[in-house]
Amino acid sequence: MLNTIIHKFVKLCYEKEVSEIVVGDASEIRENNDKNAKIKENYTSSVCPRCGSKGKRITRGSFYCPKCNQIMNADVVGCLNIAKKCKA
Ligand SMILES: [Zn+2]
Repeated sequence: MLNTIIHKFVKLCYEKEVSEIVVGDASEIRENNDKNAKIKENYTSSVCPRCGSKGKRITRGSFYCPKCNQIMNADVVGCLNIAKKCKA
């Protein structure tokens, strides 16, 4: 299961030409499972990872930021926001 997720994530990063991947401490994720689930659902899918403005999902798989005037892959947006949370 975990290997499948990692494989999909790395493949997605490769396709999107991501140059840096930030990996959070997995033990913290296990301990704060409820908190992380909320971050994933409420925060990561609605905020632009570039400017921090509130954007919106225009389709299930894509996210639009009006301030950046850019459409981004929703999965990439979610990953980047999680990465930012891990860095903070
Ligand atoms: Zn933006």
